[in-house]
Amino acid sequence: MPIDCLFCKIVAGEIPVEFVYESDTVVAFRDINPQAPTHVLVIPREHISTINDLSVEDEVLVGSLYTAAREIAVAEGIADAGYRTVMNCNEGAGQSVFHIHLHVLGGRPMNWPPG
Ligand code: AMP
Repeated sequence: MPIDCLFCKIVAGEIPVEFVYESDTVVAFRDINPQAPTHVLVIPREHISTINDLSVEDEVLVGSLYTAAREIAVAEGIADAGYRTVMNCNEGAGQSVFHIHLHVLGGRPMNWPPG
């Protein structure tokens, strides 16, 4: 685990956060600065810095981020109305925490294109 990775510390329980979903491979918790009525982050327990660091061995793990998102959307009551999943890659796209995470946003209309 990288010494200064915020999300690794959350996975390890060093920073207390309530998980809204957890499995053997991923956990999910509410974003500290929510951009929508529902704003949950789904992250792998394993440290992977960016999408650019993914390998074919991670394909099942990445799929599990999405199946977690689906379950969270149902639990949050936003599945039918619709929700957005976003994973930013590197600073130019707005990534600020370098441990991959899938944003799950819903509960309000979403605009397109994103900013
Ligand atoms: P990104 O900008 O795509 O890297 O997203 C990082 C997200 O992590 C932002 O939406 C932050 O609000 C969120 N965040 C940062 N620190 C925490 C924390 N301690 N608990 C929950 N969410 C956090």
